Amino acid sequence: MRRLLITVAALLCSAAVFAATPWQQIHQPIAGSPQSIGGFANGCIVGAQQLPLSSPNYQVMRQDQRRYYGHPDLIAFIQRLSTQVHQLQLGQVLIGDMGMAAGGRFSSGHASHQTGLDVDIWLQLPQNRWTAQQLLKPQPLDLVAPDDKQVIARHWQPQIDSLIKLAAKDDEVTRIFVNPAIKKQLCADAGSDRAWLNKVRPWFAHRAHMHVRLRCPAGSLECEEQAAPPPGDGCGAELDSWFQPKKPGSTPPVKKTPPPLPPSCQALLDRHLL
Ligand SMILES: [Zn+2]
Repeated sequence: MRRLLITVAALLCSAAVFAATPWQQIHQPIAGSPQSIGGFANGCIVGAQQLPLSSPNYQVMRQDQRRYYGHPDLIAFIQRLSTQVHQLQLGQVLIGDMGMAAGGRFSSGHASHQTGLDVDIWLQLPQNRWTAQQLLKPQPLDLVAPDDKQVIARHWQPQIDSLIKLAAKDDEVTRIFVNPAIKKQLCADAGSDRAWLNKVRPWFAHRAHMHVRLRCPAGSLECEEQAAPPPGDGCGAELDSWFQPKKPGSTPPVKKTPPPLPPSCQALLDRHLL
């Protein structure tokens, strides 16, 4: 039994090694004029910038992961949003994963965040700044009830509505992913100002954070844009379908072998990992 356990442990370790990606070995942004290349789930970035780690308006979590790089448009968006949140005295913005220095695939977590245009922002706005220890091992606040049908009323704050709405109203933002129960609450709270809800898309997980995606920057000629979401606020039948009994095929997509890299990203890897 013990031997079996050791073998299993060894297999798990080797799986972890295989799961590492070459992108993790690039620790500095690739010099050049900023270019997001490829798709959000299969791409890279030249000329990424590091998000300044100290700001009066936001805090950056898990800095040891070094996932705090992005296209200058993403840096500007985070600064713009957190300044608005600060001016409205809504609390501290907590920044999670952005991208790695040259973008590319993470070893763990999501498949997107590869072109320097995605950021995870937590759906809690503490009034007091977190300590270094809290930032290193942040505790997510699950906003969704265990039945997945609604948000937990005592955790839901009007400030969270405001945070998501401010982000959705930003011209550079194309999509925001949140749990279907969170989208349902936003739909219920929105009133007559609803156009921004179009960008807020229901998706699996995302119970404690929103994932914000920016449009392809001007000048990033190899950046692949996603099709626009369907018209409307997305609060009707499409959202309802997330709460129906599970049909075959409604489970999260199974992770497949990654597609070939865009040629410019492959060339970039070949140059930097000889
Ligand atoms: Zn994300």
